[in-house]
Amino acid sequence: MKGTFFLGSDSVKKFEVREMGNLGDSLGPHDVLVKNMAAGICGTDVHIYLGEKGSAEVTPPVVLGHEYSGIVEKVGSSVTDIRVGDHVTVDPNMYCGRCRPCRMGRKQNCENLFALGVNVNGGFAEYSVCPDTQCYKLNDDVSFDAGAMSEPLSCILHGADLAELSSGESVLVIGGGTIGLIMAQVMKLSGASTVIVSEPVEMRRGIALSLGVDYVIDPLNSNLSDEIRRITGRDGVDKVIECVGNKSAARDAISSADLGGTVLFFSVPKTDATIELPLFDVYKKELKIIGSMINPDTYQRAVNLINSGRIILEPLITHTYPKEKLEEAIRMQMSAESIKVVVHPND
Ligand SMILES: [Zn+2]
Ligand SMILES: [Zn+2]
Repeated sequence: MKGTFFLGSDSVKKFEVREMGNLGDSLGPHDVLVKNMAAGICGTDVHIYLGEKGSAEVTPPVVLGHEYSGIVEKVGSSVTDIRVGDHVTVDPNMYCGRCRPCRMGRKQNCENLFALGVNVNGGFAEYSVCPDTQCYKLNDDVSFDAGAMSEPLSCILHGADLAELSSGESVLVIGGGTIGLIMAQVMKLSGASTVIVSEPVEMRRGIALSLGVDYVIDPLNSNLSDEIRRITGRDGVDKVIECVGNKSAARDAISSADLGGTVLFFSVPKTDATIELPLFDVYKKELKIIGSMINPDTYQRAVNLINSGRIILEPLITHTYPKEKLEEAIRMQMSAESIKVVVHPND
């Protein structure tokens, strides 16, 4: 059983395929051995690769890949509801249950958060071991690529919950990458009257429209606020969701909110990123500005939506790579040519 280990962002060689032994030989009573079929590359993997602080502290050498799906190969002696042959996706995030945030109902801020594919070997390997509590069953007709997107979808559902969309409200999603294009679909499913996606890459705008987004805006070749006024007849929208992670997107997000609007900063920015806030607008418009961190208690809902086919994921997967080409895959994820890059560890 082989895996592609991350050796550290300052290591000369960043990745190495290593032998992991037979992981099935040492399963604990509640462990599940998964044959990893698909593992998505996330913005967090890119942050880790570049040595930037993301949402989790990485501990190399470790197999990255926290968005993955596969087939159950073997289960521990006390596992009852997961069976050999089940198709599953794995919630990577694990919480201590002992720290103050955990006990205040804020496990996303757990002081001892640890995650498969960050501190424990994850998806970019032929096999992985996880506790049965982290395994969720996929329908057999769901592709492994789609199943691997349960993790980002679960994070998006948490953000969408915080944005508190009421049916009939208008939404602007800034950024048409994987997150933006799933978020736009969730907003539509949740009853938005109008969903607009702002995205400079033409290929992504085309896919946004094919997924049922009502309007797309090219922010480089048109004026965002003029376009919003043309579409909505208003100077802003009710909910703005920022899914890019740079300053100009953040400024656009604030300026695109209508009276009583909500701005959700969903992207993972650099740790020292700042913008100036137009305080008078915040006051006069009664703006709500909110952040969102990972996926507390939303994983089952994400799996339900994927199993029922309500969210369209396949068109977002633009590239697939074997585990031996992980570094190439991460570089492709950083390129505007791609939307979602997925690794197939057993190819
Ligand atoms: Zn992720
Ligand atoms: Zn905790």
